[in-house]
Amino acid sequence: MNSDTSPAARLADATTRIARAAALRPAPHPVTLIAVTKTRSADEIAPLIAAGHRAYGENRVQEAESKWPALREGHGDIALHLVGQLQSNKADAAVALFDAIHSVDRPSLVTALARAMDKADRRPDCFIQVNIGAEEQKGGCPIADLPALLTQARTAELPVAGLMAVPPASVEAAPYFALLAKLARDHGLAGLSMGMSEDYETAVLIGATHVRIGTALFGPRA
Ligand SMILES: *Cc1c(COP(=O)(O)O)cnc(C)c1O
Repeated sequence: MNSDTSPAARLADATTRIARAAALRPAPHPVTLIAVTKTRSADEIAPLIAAGHRAYGENRVQEAESKWPALREGHGDIALHLVGQLQSNKADAAVALFDAIHSVDRPSLVTALARAMDKADRRPDCFIQVNIGAEEQKGGCPIADLPALLTQARTAELPVAGLMAVPPASVEAAPYFALLAKLARDHGLAGLSMGMSEDYETAVLIGATHVRIGTALFGPRA
């Protein structure tokens, strides 16, 4: 990554890298690059929208509510992805604002989202987040709980698009990506939201359909 290039130039570079990795797959499929814009200002994001990029990620409902209604205006085709933990009491707001929710990780949240979707008559795609490294403080459902949570989500008519995970930091991510891909296959799910700035090419090689990239586009967060 060249640190003196613009976010739009870095986006073009990441897009090329993703295409190169995707082409090495036995059966290439499209990969969505989610530009993660948490902590970034409207002025930093606007050039990517002007360059035609249409998939963005935020990790907090409130921050997204303050930035995106204005940024989105006139761009009805922008898709907003929630990539951070969601409190059940913010389910209504999340369903109203986001087109996909990548952090569905517990029964109480499935219940809250199902109620919010029924009320709003709007059904954002849902990814079940798995605590793939069995880390104490991390979000995501334990692997052992995944079958029951999936059954609950499907019964509640959440549109389950796939699985999402954030592997443990500072260790090789590939084995965790491979495990998430296997879990998705076992449960008949096509979507795989995995890979961030440091490891998105590896994730795509292992089958990611959605990569979530912040730092590699905008530089380090403050
Ligand atoms: C912040 C964040 C990202 C992007 O991380 P970078 O390392 O900046 O690319 C991806 N996924 C989640 C869940 C995040 O919170």
